[in-house]
Amino acid sequence: MKNTREVNNIIINYNDFDKKKLNKIVKQFDEKWKEVALYFKNEVDYKKPVINLFNSRAGYVESTTFSYVKNELTGVYKKAKGEAFILVPTGEKDIEKISNLFVHESVHHVIDKIGKDIPEWLNEGMSLYFSKTFEDLGSFNQLELEQSIDFLRRDLPDTTFGMFARCYYHHLSVDYFHKKYGSHKMMKYIKEDFNTEELFGKSQDELNEEFAEHVIKSFEVKNNAELEIKLT
Ligand SMILES: [Zn+2]
Repeated sequence: MKNTREVNNIIINYNDFDKKKLNKIVKQFDEKWKEVALYFKNEVDYKKPVINLFNSRAGYVESTTFSYVKNELTGVYKKAKGEAFILVPTGEKDIEKISNLFVHESVHHVIDKIGKDIPEWLNEGMSLYFSKTFEDLGSFNQLELEQSIDFLRRDLPDTTFGMFARCYYHHLSVDYFHKKYGSHKMMKYIKEDFNTEELFGKSQDELNEEFAEHVIKSFEVKNNAELEIKLT
C-alpha cells in the first residue's frame, strides 16, 4: 500500500482514498477510540492495530480472498496476519457507521493480542460492545427477537439474519456481563485462562443459564422450555 496514516496508535494503510472523507473518518474514530484506550490502558504491550483500507471491492477481494463480498461497507480482522481489512466503497457516506467499523476491527486486534483462546461470543461481543452496533436494543422489536431466537435454536448462523441474530446475542451477553460483574473481572476473563468459578463463582454452564434467564426476563420470551441460549 502506498500511503500510511497513523492515528492514536493505529496504522491505516491505503492506496487511494478521498482525503476529506478519510479526515472525517479519522476524526470520529479518534474520538470513539478514547473509550477503548481507557478500558485497555494497562495493556500497553499490544502491538499497534493495522487497518488496510480499500475503496473498491476488487482490492479488498484480492487481499482477503473473500470473493463473495458485495461492494458495500464491510470488514474483517485476519488473525493469521494480525491485521484488519476494511472496504469503504466510494458511495458509502455514513461516517458514523464507517468509524464504528474501524473501532470494531481494531478491538478484534487488541483482544487477539491480549487474550487467550477467546470464545466467539466474547471476541465478537467485545468488538460490538465498543462499536455499539446494537446499543439501541429497543429498536429490536419482539418479532425480530423471536425470529432471532428461532435462528439460534436451529443454528443457522450462515444466513444474513442468522449472523445478525448471533451478533446481537454476542453484544447482549458482553453488555450484560459487564453490568453484572464489572470491567475489571471481564478484563481478567479475557486475559487469563478461563476459570469462571474463580472469577464469577459460577461454572460455564451456570453462566449460560444466567444469561439465558436474563434474555428470557428482559424480553418476555415465550416457549422458553425449548429455548437454548448458549454462549459459544
Ligand atoms: Zn467482528
